[in-house]
Amino acid sequence: METVHDRLGRPLRELRISVTDRCNFRCGYCMPSDQFRDETHFLPHAEILSFEEIARLSHTFARELGVSKLRLTGGEPLLRRQLPKLVGWLAAIPGIDDLALTTNGFLLAEHAKSLRDAGLRRITVSLDSLEPHEFARMSGSSEPQAAARLDRVLGGIDAAIAAGFLQLKLNCVVIAGQNDGAVLALAERFRGTPHIVRFIEYMDVGTQNHWRAGDVVTAGQIVQRIAARWPLEAIDPNHRGEVAQRFRYADGGGEIGVIASVSQPFCGDCRRARLSADGKLLTCLFAQTGTDLKATLRGGASDAELGARVRDAWQQRQDRYSELRAKLRSSRPAAPRRRLEMYQVGG
Ligand code: SAM
Repeated sequence: METVHDRLGRPLRELRISVTDRCNFRCGYCMPSDQFRDETHFLPHAEILSFEEIARLSHTFARELGVSKLRLTGGEPLLRRQLPKLVGWLAAIPGIDDLALTTNGFLLAEHAKSLRDAGLRRITVSLDSLEPHEFARMSGSSEPQAAARLDRVLGGIDAAIAAGFLQLKLNCVVIAGQNDGAVLALAERFRGTPHIVRFIEYMDVGTQNHWRAGDVVTAGQIVQRIAARWPLEAIDPNHRGEVAQRFRYADGGGEIGVIASVSQPFCGDCRRARLSADGKLLTCLFAQTGTDLKATLRGGASDAELGARVRDAWQQRQDRYSELRAKLRSSRPAAPRRRLEMYQVGG
Protein backbone atom coordinates (compact mmCIF):
# COMPACT_ATOMS: atom_id res chain seq x y z
CA MET A 1 0.00 0.00 0.00
CA GLU A 2 1.37 3.37 -1.02
CA THR A 3 0.97 6.31 1.39
CA VAL A 4 -1.32 8.95 -0.11
CA HIS A 5 -0.35 12.59 0.28
CA ASP A 6 -2.48 15.65 -0.24
CA ARG A 7 -1.45 18.68 -2.31
CA LEU A 8 0.50 20.07 0.64
CA GLY A 9 2.37 16.79 1.18
CA ARG A 10 0.38 15.65 4.21
CA PRO A 11 -0.32 11.92 4.62
CA LEU A 12 -3.64 10.50 5.82
CA ARG A 13 -3.27 8.74 9.18
CA GLU A 14 -6.37 9.25 11.27
CA LEU A 15 -10.11 9.05 10.71
CA ARG A 16 -12.65 10.63 13.04
CA ILE A 17 -16.03 9.02 12.67
CA SER A 18 -19.19 10.81 13.70
CA VAL A 19 -21.67 8.07 14.61
CA THR A 20 -24.56 10.47 15.18
CA ASP A 21 -25.30 14.17 14.76
CA ARG A 22 -27.55 14.17 17.85
CA CYS A 23 -26.47 15.29 21.28
CA ASN A 24 -27.97 15.31 24.78
CA PHE A 25 -26.12 18.55 25.69
CA ARG A 26 -26.63 21.99 24.24
CA CYS A 27 -23.19 23.58 24.62
CA GLY A 28 -23.41 27.16 23.39
CA TYR A 29 -20.19 26.84 21.38
CA CYS A 30 -21.46 23.82 19.42
CA MET A 31 -25.24 23.28 19.46
CA PRO A 32 -26.78 26.32 21.20
CA SER A 33 -30.10 25.59 22.93
CA ASP A 34 -31.92 28.57 21.43
CA GLN A 35 -31.35 27.15 17.96
CA PHE A 36 -31.69 23.43 18.62
CA ARG A 37 -35.01 22.95 20.35
CA ASP A 38 -36.52 20.17 18.27
CA GLU A 39 -35.63 17.20 16.10
CA THR A 40 -35.88 18.98 12.76
CA HIS A 41 -32.18 19.81 12.67
CA PHE A 42 -31.03 16.24 12.77
CA LEU A 43 -30.59 13.56 10.15
CA PRO A 44 -33.35 10.98 9.66
CA HIS A 45 -32.21 7.50 10.65
CA ALA A 46 -32.05 6.21 7.07
CA GLU A 47 -29.46 8.88 6.22
CA ILE A 48 -27.08 7.77 8.95
CA LEU A 49 -24.44 5.18 8.14
CA SER A 50 -25.18 1.75 9.59
CA PHE A 51 -22.53 -0.01 11.68
CA GLU A 52 -21.88 -2.32 8.72
CA GLU A 53 -21.25 0.70 6.48
CA ILE A 54 -18.97 2.37 9.04
CA ALA A 55 -16.99 -0.84 9.45
CA ARG A 56 -16.66 -1.34 5.71
CA LEU A 57 -15.42 2.20 5.19
CA SER A 58 -13.01 1.86 8.11
CA HIS A 59 -11.58 -1.31 6.57
CA THR A 60 -11.08 0.59 3.34
CA PHE A 61 -9.35 3.48 5.07
CA ALA A 62 -7.04 1.08 6.91
CA ARG A 63 -6.27 -1.30 4.05
CA GLU A 64 -6.17 1.04 1.06
CA LEU A 65 -4.99 4.26 2.65
CA GLY A 66 -2.94 3.34 5.69
CA VAL A 67 -5.16 4.87 8.37
CA SER A 68 -4.08 3.43 11.73
CA LYS A 69 -6.11 5.50 14.16
CA LEU A 70 -9.88 5.78 14.51
CA ARG A 71 -11.79 8.03 16.88
CA LEU A 72 -15.54 7.75 17.43
CA THR A 73 -17.28 11.05 18.03
CA GLY A 74 -20.43 12.96 17.13
CA GLY A 75 -22.82 14.53 18.23
CA GLU A 76 -22.72 12.41 21.34
CA PRO A 77 -21.50 8.95 20.30
CA LEU A 78 -22.93 7.18 23.35
CA LEU A 79 -26.43 8.07 22.14
CA ARG A 80 -25.92 5.56 19.35
CA ARG A 81 -27.43 2.26 20.49
CA GLN A 82 -25.12 -0.74 20.81
CA LEU A 83 -21.98 1.27 20.23
CA PRO A 84 -19.80 -1.47 21.81
CA LYS A 85 -20.80 -3.73 18.91
CA LEU A 86 -19.28 -1.25 16.45
CA VAL A 87 -16.23 -0.85 18.69
CA GLY A 88 -15.69 -4.62 18.58
CA TRP A 89 -15.79 -4.63 14.79
CA LEU A 90 -13.43 -1.67 14.44
CA ALA A 91 -10.97 -3.02 17.00
CA ALA A 92 -10.62 -6.17 14.90
CA ILE A 93 -9.60 -4.33 11.71
CA PRO A 94 -6.02 -5.20 10.73
CA GLY A 95 -3.81 -2.10 10.82
CA ILE A 96 -5.90 -0.19 13.38
CA ASP A 97 -3.65 0.24 16.39
CA ASP A 98 -5.46 3.07 18.12
CA LEU A 99 -9.20 3.22 18.74
CA ALA A 100 -10.53 6.11 20.80
CA LEU A 101 -13.80 7.79 21.77
CA THR A 102 -14.72 11.38 22.59
CA THR A 103 -17.80 11.76 24.80
CA ASN A 104 -19.47 14.26 27.09
CA GLY A 105 -19.47 11.49 29.71
CA PHE A 106 -23.17 11.66 30.58
CA LEU A 107 -23.83 8.03 29.59
CA LEU A 108 -20.32 6.76 30.25
CA ALA A 109 -20.97 5.02 33.57
CA GLU A 110 -23.41 2.65 31.84
CA HIS A 111 -21.14 1.84 28.93
CA ALA A 112 -17.52 2.09 30.09
CA LYS A 113 -17.05 -1.59 30.85
CA SER A 114 -18.67 -2.93 27.68
CA LEU A 115 -16.68 -0.44 25.59
CA ARG A 116 -13.48 -1.63 27.24
CA ASP A 117 -14.41 -5.28 26.79
CA ALA A 118 -15.17 -4.62 23.13
CA GLY A 119 -11.64 -3.28 22.52
CA LEU A 120 -11.82 0.49 23.04
CA ARG A 121 -8.42 1.67 24.26
CA ARG A 122 -8.72 5.38 24.97
CA ILE A 123 -11.42 7.81 26.08
CA THR A 124 -11.53 11.59 26.04
CA VAL A 125 -14.23 13.15 28.21
CA SER A 126 -15.30 16.74 27.56
CA LEU A 127 -15.54 18.61 30.83
CA ASP A 128 -15.75 22.38 30.71
CA SER A 129 -16.10 23.08 34.41
CA LEU A 130 -16.32 21.49 37.85
CA GLU A 131 -18.58 24.22 39.14
CA PRO A 132 -22.35 23.80 38.49
CA HIS A 133 -22.96 27.45 37.62
CA GLU A 134 -20.24 27.48 34.95
CA PHE A 135 -21.12 23.97 33.81
CA ALA A 136 -24.74 25.09 33.30
CA ARG A 137 -23.62 28.04 31.21
CA MET A 138 -21.26 25.95 29.08
CA SER A 139 -23.51 22.92 28.53
CA GLY A 140 -26.77 24.80 27.98
CA SER A 141 -28.52 23.37 31.06
CA SER A 142 -30.54 24.95 33.84
CA GLU A 143 -28.62 25.19 37.10
CA PRO A 144 -30.34 22.36 39.02
CA GLN A 145 -30.09 20.17 35.93
CA ALA A 146 -26.41 21.09 35.55
CA ALA A 147 -25.50 19.93 39.05
CA ALA A 148 -27.04 16.51 38.36
CA ARG A 149 -25.40 16.33 34.93
CA LEU A 150 -22.03 17.24 36.32
CA ASP A 151 -22.36 14.47 38.93
CA ARG A 152 -23.16 11.98 36.20
CA VAL A 153 -20.18 13.05 34.12
CA LEU A 154 -17.88 12.74 37.13
CA GLY A 155 -19.43 9.33 37.85
CA GLY A 156 -18.74 8.39 34.23
CA ILE A 157 -15.09 9.34 34.65
CA ASP A 158 -14.81 7.16 37.76
CA ALA A 159 -16.53 4.27 35.99
CA ALA A 160 -14.15 4.55 33.03
CA ILE A 161 -11.15 4.40 35.35
CA ALA A 162 -12.64 1.41 37.16
CA ALA A 163 -13.20 -0.28 33.79
CA GLY A 164 -9.48 -0.04 33.03
CA PHE A 165 -9.11 3.26 31.14
CA LEU A 166 -6.18 4.24 33.31
CA GLN A 167 -5.22 7.45 31.55
CA LEU A 168 -8.13 9.61 30.43
CA LYS A 169 -7.98 12.86 28.57
CA LEU A 170 -10.32 15.62 29.69
CA ASN A 171 -11.16 18.29 27.11
CA CYS A 172 -12.06 21.77 28.33
CA VAL A 173 -13.01 24.49 25.87
CA VAL A 174 -12.14 27.81 27.51
CA ILE A 175 -14.33 30.82 26.69
CA ALA A 176 -13.56 34.26 28.08
CA GLY A 177 -16.04 35.30 30.73
CA GLN A 178 -17.81 31.94 30.73
CA ASN A 179 -15.64 29.34 32.42
CA ASP A 180 -12.53 31.23 33.48
CA GLY A 181 -12.52 29.49 36.86
CA ALA A 182 -12.30 26.08 35.21
CA VAL A 183 -8.66 26.40 34.21
CA LEU A 184 -7.14 26.25 37.69
CA ALA A 185 -9.93 24.10 39.13
CA LEU A 186 -9.53 21.37 36.51
CA ALA A 187 -5.74 21.55 36.65
CA GLU A 188 -5.89 21.12 40.42
CA ARG A 189 -8.44 18.32 40.35
CA PHE A 190 -6.39 16.15 37.99
CA ARG A 191 -2.90 17.11 39.21
CA GLY A 192 -1.21 14.13 40.74
CA THR A 193 -3.20 11.68 38.59
CA PRO A 194 -2.28 10.02 35.28
CA HIS A 195 -5.15 11.88 33.55
CA ILE A 196 -4.43 14.76 31.20
CA VAL A 197 -6.57 17.88 31.04
CA ARG A 198 -6.36 19.54 27.65
CA PHE A 199 -7.48 23.13 27.37
CA ILE A 200 -8.84 24.00 23.93
CA GLU A 201 -9.03 27.43 22.36
CA TYR A 202 -12.59 28.27 21.39
CA MET A 203 -12.83 27.85 17.60
CA ASP A 204 -14.99 29.46 14.94
CA VAL A 205 -16.40 26.16 13.70
CA GLY A 206 -19.76 26.48 11.94
CA THR A 207 -21.75 29.68 12.08
CA GLN A 208 -24.33 29.11 14.81
CA ASN A 209 -22.19 29.79 17.87
CA HIS A 210 -21.62 33.47 16.95
CA TRP A 211 -17.91 33.13 17.69
CA ARG A 212 -15.95 36.34 18.23
CA ALA A 213 -12.17 36.58 18.38
CA GLY A 214 -12.50 38.30 21.77
CA ASP A 215 -14.05 35.14 23.28
CA VAL A 216 -10.86 33.18 22.77
CA VAL A 217 -8.57 32.59 25.73
CA THR A 218 -5.28 31.71 24.09
CA ALA A 219 -3.21 28.65 24.93
CA GLY A 220 -0.40 31.03 25.97
CA GLN A 221 -2.68 32.73 28.49
CA ILE A 222 -3.87 29.37 29.83
CA VAL A 223 -0.32 28.07 30.28
CA GLN A 224 0.68 31.31 32.01
CA ARG A 225 -2.24 31.06 34.41
CA ILE A 226 -1.44 27.50 35.39
CA ALA A 227 2.32 28.02 35.51
CA ALA A 228 1.89 30.98 37.87
CA ARG A 229 0.45 28.53 40.39
CA TRP A 230 2.32 25.32 39.53
CA PRO A 231 5.45 25.81 37.38
CA LEU A 232 5.30 23.98 34.05
CA GLU A 233 7.89 22.66 31.60
CA ALA A 234 7.20 22.08 27.89
CA ILE A 235 7.65 18.50 26.73
CA ASP A 236 8.04 16.93 23.30
CA PRO A 237 5.02 15.70 21.34
CA ASN A 238 4.31 11.96 21.51
CA HIS A 239 4.18 11.80 17.74
CA ARG A 240 4.14 13.96 14.63
CA GLY A 241 0.76 15.62 14.06
CA GLU A 242 -0.22 15.62 17.75
CA VAL A 243 -2.65 18.50 18.18
CA ALA A 244 -1.97 19.32 21.83
CA GLN A 245 1.18 21.03 23.05
CA ARG A 246 2.30 19.12 26.13
CA PHE A 247 3.51 20.48 29.48
CA ARG A 248 4.44 18.74 32.72
CA TYR A 249 4.35 20.08 36.22
CA ALA A 250 7.89 20.82 37.37
CA ASP A 251 7.13 19.12 40.71
CA GLY A 252 6.21 15.84 39.01
CA GLY A 253 2.44 16.35 39.38
CA GLY A 254 1.65 15.03 35.90
CA GLU A 255 0.80 16.57 32.56
CA ILE A 256 -1.56 19.04 30.87
CA GLY A 257 -2.07 19.96 27.24
CA VAL A 258 -3.22 23.02 25.31
CA ILE A 259 -4.72 23.04 21.85
CA ALA A 260 -3.87 26.33 20.19
CA SER A 261 -5.97 25.90 17.07
CA VAL A 262 -6.68 29.62 16.77
CA SER A 263 -3.52 31.34 18.05
CA GLN A 264 -0.99 28.84 16.62
CA PRO A 265 -2.72 26.80 13.91
CA PHE A 266 -1.25 23.42 13.04
CA CYS A 267 -2.76 22.75 9.61
CA GLY A 268 0.70 21.95 8.24
CA ASP A 269 0.72 18.75 10.27
CA CYS A 270 -2.95 17.80 9.95
CA ARG A 271 -3.21 14.14 8.92
CA ARG A 272 -6.85 13.73 9.83
CA ALA A 273 -9.97 13.06 7.79
CA ARG A 274 -13.49 13.06 9.14
CA LEU A 275 -16.49 10.95 8.26
CA SER A 276 -19.80 12.63 9.01
CA ALA A 277 -22.75 10.63 10.35
CA ASP A 278 -24.29 10.66 6.86
CA GLY A 279 -21.16 9.37 5.21
CA LYS A 280 -19.45 12.50 3.87
CA LEU A 281 -15.68 12.49 3.84
CA LEU A 282 -14.48 15.86 5.14
CA THR A 283 -10.90 16.94 4.81
CA CYS A 284 -11.07 19.86 7.25
CA LEU A 285 -12.92 20.77 10.42
CA PHE A 286 -13.95 23.97 8.66
CA ALA A 287 -15.28 22.25 5.57
CA GLN A 288 -18.36 23.50 3.75
CA THR A 289 -19.00 20.21 2.07
CA GLY A 290 -17.51 16.76 1.57
CA THR A 291 -17.26 13.71 -0.69
CA ASP A 292 -20.39 11.59 -0.49
CA LEU A 293 -19.07 8.12 0.37
CA LYS A 294 -22.50 6.89 1.41
CA ALA A 295 -23.80 7.32 -2.15
CA THR A 296 -20.77 5.46 -3.50
CA LEU A 297 -21.21 2.71 -0.92
CA ARG A 298 -24.96 2.34 -1.39
CA GLY A 299 -24.50 2.49 -5.16
CA GLY A 300 -22.70 -0.86 -4.97
CA ALA A 301 -19.06 0.24 -5.29
CA SER A 302 -16.33 -2.34 -4.74
CA ASP A 303 -13.71 -1.86 -1.99
CA ALA A 304 -11.21 -0.81 -4.64
CA GLU A 305 -13.62 1.81 -6.01
CA LEU A 306 -14.29 3.15 -2.53
CA GLY A 307 -10.56 3.31 -1.86
CA ALA A 308 -9.99 5.17 -5.13
CA ARG A 309 -12.69 7.72 -4.24
CA VAL A 310 -11.05 8.45 -0.88
CA ARG A 311 -7.55 8.56 -2.38
CA ASP A 312 -8.77 11.02 -4.98
CA ALA A 313 -10.38 13.28 -2.40
CA TRP A 314 -7.26 13.23 -0.23
CA GLN A 315 -4.97 13.95 -3.17
CA GLN A 316 -7.06 17.02 -4.02
CA ARG A 317 -6.93 18.29 -0.45
CA GLN A 318 -5.40 21.69 0.17
CA ASP A 319 -7.38 22.88 3.20
CA ARG A 320 -5.56 25.01 5.74
CA TYR A 321 -8.32 27.20 7.01
CA SER A 322 -6.84 28.01 10.42
CA GLU A 323 -3.54 29.15 8.95
CA LEU A 324 -5.34 31.41 6.49
CA ARG A 325 -7.47 32.84 9.29
CA ALA A 326 -4.34 33.61 11.28
CA LYS A 327 -2.65 35.22 8.27
CA LEU A 328 -5.56 37.51 7.59
CA ARG A 329 -5.58 38.56 11.24
CA SER A 330 -9.25 39.29 11.19
CA SER A 331 -11.95 37.62 13.21
CA ARG A 332 -13.08 35.77 10.10
CA PRO A 333 -11.21 35.33 6.82
CA ALA A 334 -14.16 36.31 4.66
CA ALA A 335 -17.77 37.31 5.01
CA PRO A 336 -19.54 34.56 6.96
CA ARG A 337 -20.26 31.71 4.62
CA ARG A 338 -22.14 28.51 5.14
CA ARG A 339 -19.97 26.06 7.00
CA LEU A 340 -20.72 22.74 8.57
CA GLU A 341 -21.24 22.73 12.33
CA MET A 342 -18.98 20.85 14.74
CA TYR A 343 -21.69 18.31 15.62
CA GLN A 344 -22.06 17.54 11.88
CA VAL A 345 -18.36 17.32 11.14
CA GLY A 346 -17.54 15.22 14.21
CA GLY A 347 -15.39 17.11 16.71
N1 SAM B 1 -20.33 14.95 22.34
C1 SAM B 1 -18.95 14.58 22.45
C2 SAM B 1 -18.23 15.45 23.44
O1 SAM B 1 -18.85 16.34 24.02
O2 SAM B 1 -17.04 15.23 23.66
C3 SAM B 1 -18.19 14.52 21.14
C4 SAM B 1 -18.43 15.59 20.13
S1 SAM B 1 -17.85 17.17 20.57
C5 SAM B 1 -18.31 18.10 19.12
C6 SAM B 1 -16.11 16.97 20.45
C7 SAM B 1 -15.25 18.04 21.05
O3 SAM B 1 -15.38 19.22 20.31
C8 SAM B 1 -15.60 18.40 22.48
O4 SAM B 1 -14.47 18.24 23.31
C9 SAM B 1 -16.01 19.84 22.39
O5 SAM B 1 -15.69 20.53 23.54
C10 SAM B 1 -15.25 20.31 21.18
N2 SAM B 1 -15.83 21.50 20.56
C11 SAM B 1 -17.07 21.66 20.04
N3 SAM B 1 -17.24 22.90 19.53
C12 SAM B 1 -16.06 23.55 19.73
C13 SAM B 1 -15.60 24.86 19.42
N4 SAM B 1 -16.39 25.76 18.81
N5 SAM B 1 -14.34 25.19 19.75
C14 SAM B 1 -13.53 24.28 20.36
N6 SAM B 1 -13.90 23.03 20.67
C15 SAM B 1 -15.16 22.66 20.37
